[in-house]
Amino acid sequence: MTTRRLVRTAPVIPGAVPTAAVRAFRDRLHRVSEHRIWQGTADKGTTPVLYVDDVRYPARPLAWVLHHGTAPVGLVKAGCRTPLCVAGPHLTDDVTRQRERVLYAALLGIPLTGPCPAGVHDLAQFGYARPNRTTECRGCDNARRRIPHALKGAAAA
Ligand SMILES: [Zn+2]
Ligand SMILES: [Zn+2]
Repeated sequence: MTTRRLVRTAPVIPGAVPTAAVRAFRDRLHRVSEHRIWQGTADKGTTPVLYVDDVRYPARPLAWVLHHGTAPVGLVKAGCRTPLCVAGPHLTDDVTRQRERVLYAALLGIPLTGPCPAGVHDLAQFGYARPNRTTECRGCDNARRRIPHALKGAAAA
């Protein structure tokens, strides 16, 4: 006999993560120097997921909330590029990643302020610099990626 259990995905709310989930999260960490490698389930082998009492928590946003006490903005990634690392200080979100892009551009002497070259986006929020010192815009990059292939083919013909 097989029983099918309903699993629901829970939002990770700062200050309101159930104690059982916090304990289960900590039980699944494997310490490798400064990294905390996830020992639990991972979607596609790369996205850490925590299951507690038929509730599914995305483990990286959970780790972020436990570390910072605030909700992340956008995707949470392991900035250390170590597979399955969920160490709080190693995690990045849209805000911290953009902050790093601004710092990197400043090192190249490029101020990321004002509108992007297309005049559509705010460079402080979407801009980044390439090593060859050109200024690029993620907002425009994303817009280009959304153009359907059929349309691109027509434009090339
Ligand atoms: Zn790490
Ligand atoms: Zn732009």
